[in-house]
Amino acid sequence: MPLEKPQALDASEPWDVCIVGSGPAGTILGTSLVERGLRTLILESGGGMRQWLFDKEVRKLAEYEFSGDTDYPLTRTTSRIIGGNSNFWTGRCERFHPSDFEAHPYLPAENPWPIRYDDLEPYYTRAEKTLRVRGGEPSRFMPPRSEPFPLKARSDITVLKELMQKGGVTLDDSPTATPEKALRFFRVNKEILPRFLASPLGTLVSGVTATDLVHDERGAVAGVTARCLDGTTRTARARVYVVSCGGIQSPRLLLLSRSERFPDGLGNEYDRVGRGFNEHPSLNFYGRIRSGWGKLRPRHKIGRTHQFYETFRAEGLGAIHAVCIQSFAFPNHLLRYRLADLPKHVADAASRLVWPTIYMSPTLEMRPVDANRVKLSETTRDAFGNPTAHLALSFTDEDRRLLERSRELVLSCFEKLGATDIEEIEQTWSRHHIGTCRTGDDPKTSVVDRNLRVHASPNLFVCGAEVFVTGAATQPVLTITAFAHRLAEHLVELFQKRDPAIATLGNRGVA
Ligand SMILES: Cc1cc2nc3c(=O)[nH]c(=O)nc-3n(C[C@H](O)[C@H](O)[C@H](O)COP(=O)(O)OP(=O)(O)OC[C@H]3O[C@@H](n4cnc5c(N)ncnc54)[C@H](O)[C@@H]3O)c2cc1C
Repeated sequence: MPLEKPQALDASEPWDVCIVGSGPAGTILGTSLVERGLRTLILESGGGMRQWLFDKEVRKLAEYEFSGDTDYPLTRTTSRIIGGNSNFWTGRCERFHPSDFEAHPYLPAENPWPIRYDDLEPYYTRAEKTLRVRGGEPSRFMPPRSEPFPLKARSDITVLKELMQKGGVTLDDSPTATPEKALRFFRVNKEILPRFLASPLGTLVSGVTATDLVHDERGAVAGVTARCLDGTTRTARARVYVVSCGGIQSPRLLLLSRSERFPDGLGNEYDRVGRGFNEHPSLNFYGRIRSGWGKLRPRHKIGRTHQFYETFRAEGLGAIHAVCIQSFAFPNHLLRYRLADLPKHVADAASRLVWPTIYMSPTLEMRPVDANRVKLSETTRDAFGNPTAHLALSFTDEDRRLLERSRELVLSCFEKLGATDIEEIEQTWSRHHIGTCRTGDDPKTSVVDRNLRVHASPNLFVCGAEVFVTGAATQPVLTITAFAHRLAEHLVELFQKRDPAIATLGNRGVA
């Protein structure tokens, strides 16, 4: 992969756009920009997979602190690697529902979404093409769509659907990103980044960590301080800057970018940066289907239900979205056992090979509250001497009610199915970092405007799940991709119409 060294940042001509972070948000945005004629630089803190796995110093850069009652994992939720967390994701690509953008029990009243589902729908269609999403014929519970899925679902889940219908659950296929070549996972660094690198307008510099957005009195960013672990420091200069470091590191970079005019961080005059962090906790259940389902075989089939999305909201709760897997000896299920327990559970697992198992896992929306937030650590510093991120995350009473209500739903479904040996295993997290630089029309209640521009700056943007007002009960990458396409279009327009914010830094036309 043709990567540039930090010295490339000494170029005399500023780039049109500098993006910080090469995860799905940064890579898809950057590729869309070079394909529309903008000279684009991506700065990435990590390198390749080997470095991420074996270089302790690089791994340390991704560390953060935690407080709260959720026992949130500190590892395997963030990474420093080209392609970001797309190296580890499972490729599930769901759309938000129209109701997510409207008033609902978990929407912060003071900070509604500034856009509606219909505004995003054309970008969802484009995003599904970018991610080559496979999907089946949608049921009436799925979000509306103007075009069919780009690719047809590969797996036939008819038998699983019939079974779950008897449990009162309508299943849909689980839309999934599809790599170009068989036998690999969809990683943006394999599927999309090569297009960025093949363009004469695209430059990726890896191994450089952005530590400061250098700005003036107006909040206009003049450069990004980019530091290497060997002590080299450079400044990357562009006309427009986009922060795409994920929901923990993006707010941290804004908070680290302090000046006399912005003593609490760029974009943070109203103490909004980092506030409202939310995630998707999941409950996990197994039940055995012993008889009466002649056609059901112990094999791996996956479906999802959108059926309870609106009904739970009508009860004043958040949305839920459940996965149902027809399975046998599901690996996670085995891994959780301690060695000492092995003989008993090995026997358990063996029996699962004989009897089909249904795994049900509702994924829950969390209510965004100010107390759940990313802030700067008061005690820990990174290799560059900067405070690490501190994540505070506790469940609200509403979150607990939703967990309980979802548990009831699964158990009643298992009862209707006549399932036996029902077991709830520990709650898990989806590793989605949402809501810490929220979009909104009011600078007092949000960090970025409806075009994702930081309210306090003329030329600084944020792209990623950190701009979502609520997390819905939905995996974020498809929506991140839709926002990346929308932002690319907006930036191109700014260059085309010679927007004053860009003109001050020396404008140029765009193809
Ligand atoms: C195991 C797992 C499974 C998942 N499954 C799904 C799924 O099925 N569907 C789904 O939608 N989502 C899934 N996700 C979540 C998804 O991977 C993330 O939401 C997505 O990767 C976020 O994209 P991003 O570009 O905003 O951030 P990231 O992927 O986190 O990328 C951020 C990039 O910024 C870089 N960076 C950070 N700080 C700096 C800095 N200061 N300077 C320079 N570079 C920096 C990082 O190295 C990284 O490359 C999963 C996540 C995990 C871990």
